[in-house]
Amino acid sequence: MLEVRHLVKEYKSFRAVDDLSFTIHPGEIVGLLGPNGAGKTTALRCMAGILRPTSGQVLINGHDLLLDQARAKSGLAFVPELPSLYELLTVEEHMKFVAMCFDTLDVYESLLEPLLKRYNLMDKRNQLVATLSKGMKQKLAIACALVHRANVFMFDEPIIGIDPAGVVEVKDEFRRAKDGGAAVLVSTHLLDTAEKLCDRVIILAKGRKIAEGTLAQLQSQFGMEGRSLEDVFLELTDEARQTAPVFDV
Ligand code: ATP
Repeated sequence: MLEVRHLVKEYKSFRAVDDLSFTIHPGEIVGLLGPNGAGKTTALRCMAGILRPTSGQVLINGHDLLLDQARAKSGLAFVPELPSLYELLTVEEHMKFVAMCFDTLDVYESLLEPLLKRYNLMDKRNQLVATLSKGMKQKLAIACALVHRANVFMFDEPIIGIDPAGVVEVKDEFRRAKDGGAAVLVSTHLLDTAEKLCDRVIILAKGRKIAEGTLAQLQSQFGMEGRSLEDVFLELTDEARQTAPVFDV
C-alpha cells in the first residue's frame, strides 16, 4: 500500500507539488494524469525517495520513506521516465545486480528467462546495456523492476518508446501485479490507455490534485455523464489553467 500525506516539493520558491495526498490500495492500478509541468515526475521522484520532499510524508507498506528508508524501499519498484542503467553491465548482469541489491537472488534464477523472453531480450542477454536501443533499455528497466519482491509499483510514462508488442506485455504486467495484490501507480498522457487500464485516476494541475476517482465518479461529480476520460481531463485541466493567477510583468 502507498500512502502520500500532504506532500509538498518546492524548487526554491516554486511549488512543483502542492499538498498532495492520496492512498493506493493493494490490487489497484491508479493513473497519475496531468498536463506537462503538472508535477507528476516530481511527485513520483519524491515518492520513490529520489527527491527529498519539502514537507509531507510517504508511507510504503506502512514504512515511512524518510524515517525508515531501507524497509520502505524494499517493497517498492520505481521505473523512471528515463531509466539510468549501468551501461557497462550486460543485460543479464544488470538483472542479477538488481536482484542482489534487493536480496532476491533466490527467485532471480526462475524469473530471469521468462522476463527476458517476455521483453524480447533473450538474444541481448550477454550484450552490454550500452548497446541496447532506447525502447530495449525501457523494457530492461521494467524487467529489473520485476526481479524483486515489490508490492508497490510506480511507473513514470512507462510505454513511451516501447513497440506495440512490448506495450501489450507491459499492460499485462500491470494487470498481473494488480491481480497479485500489488498497488500500481502509473503516470501517463495516454488517456485511452488510462481509461481502459486504471481502476481510478488522480489528476494534477499546477502541482495540486484537482480530481480523484473512477471515471464514473468523475463523470458524476463534474456533471459529465457519458463523457470519456479525455473529455473530463480536458475540461478540468482547462478550468485549472484559466483560474491560474495572473502576474504582471
Ligand atoms: P511532463 O508531463 O512534462 O513530464 P510533469 O507533470 O512530470 O511534466 P514535472 O517534471 O514534475 O512535471 O515538473 C513540474 C514543475 O516543476 C515544472 O514547472 C518544472 O519546470 C519544475 N521543475 C522540475 N524540476 C525542476 C528543478 N530541478 N528545478 C526547478 N524547477 C523544476
